[in-house]
Amino acid sequence: MTKNLTIDKSRLVSFSIDEIGDNHLFTSVETPMKADAFEMTDLEKKEKIAYHFSEIMETLGLDLTDDSLKGTPQRVAKMYVDEIFCGLNPANKPKVALFDNKYQYNQMLVEKNITFYSNCEHHFVPIFGKVHVAYISNGKVIGLSKINRIVQYFAQRPQVQERLTMQIGLELQEILETEDVAVIVDAKHLCVSSRGIKDESSATVTSYYGGVFQKEQKINEFLNFIKN
Ligand SMILES: [Zn+2]
Repeated sequence: MTKNLTIDKSRLVSFSIDEIGDNHLFTSVETPMKADAFEMTDLEKKEKIAYHFSEIMETLGLDLTDDSLKGTPQRVAKMYVDEIFCGLNPANKPKVALFDNKYQYNQMLVEKNITFYSNCEHHFVPIFGKVHVAYISNGKVIGLSKINRIVQYFAQRPQVQERLTMQIGLELQEILETEDVAVIVDAKHLCVSSRGIKDESSATVTSYYGGVFQKEQKINEFLNFIKN
């Protein structure tokens, strides 16, 4: 399956780096990674992050000899590498086994209300919400918990909601060997609600519609499943 994974960057030339971050634009479907991203071990990464995080805390004027703050740099480093950003490492990608579609169920399968927690790559504060996925089997089916795991894997990176939505959709299309995949992400961004414009009630909804889901009738069917 060949996919065009690049975004037309010419659309972005009129924006400065600040504008790209402030407006939550993004530049590619792939998470931008350095070529040497995995030359350091996880342990080395944690040591380096802990050192730099303690520098941030010190700079803010916090007293790191206080018992309550002492362990924070190490805790943050461990949380970044082992938990909230562990989806950056392809070694942590969930292994997915497919099963034959024995029942010959050839209608839409919807897995809705998958809770996810991610972080905005522009502010490093949480994005969280629900993901709804639909697909139509091409002869193979996937264990339902695996859809959750795929969502979590891509969420555990610094993210932009549009990219998260597309990464989940493209991955499911690849695994399930079908174009017929739809993904909706309905999320709250703490960088919008807790700072900046401080809008507490807004939510951002993004979608990815492949194959038959580009037809209005299938989209409506999917949206009805989600509503009920
Ligand atoms: Zn943000």
